Amino acid sequence: MHEVKLATETVAHVVGVMGERSIERVLGITVEIGVLSCVERSIFEFCFAVAAEGTPVEGAELTFLERPLTLCCAACEQEFFPECPGDACISCGSMKTQVIAGREFAIKSLEVC
Ligand SMILES: [Zn+2]
Repeated sequence: MHEVKLATETVAHVVGVMGERSIERVLGITVEIGVLSCVERSIFEFCFAVAAEGTPVEGAELTFLERPLTLCCAACEQEFFPECPGDACISCGSMKTQVIAGREFAIKSLEVC
């Protein structure tokens, strides 16, 4: 249950930021999730609600920003959005590609009042 850990960490992080910046209430949290991060949104939302209970983050609304899988070609440096991680470069056909985005999980912004 990878989502439980992420949700707990998200709540702890936001509570920390609120303390540092003297923020009393957070209305919303925008989370960036890569398509390869294996985070199930509905499970994350549930875990987040459980983790946030009794904290100042309770009731904050989650917004998800999905990051597409992005590969970079090692041969021609073309960046592209493939169907799957093993796709060849769309520009030169090289199979030597590297995943440069799509695995992330990050808190992008907080909406405060
Ligand atoms: Zn290429």
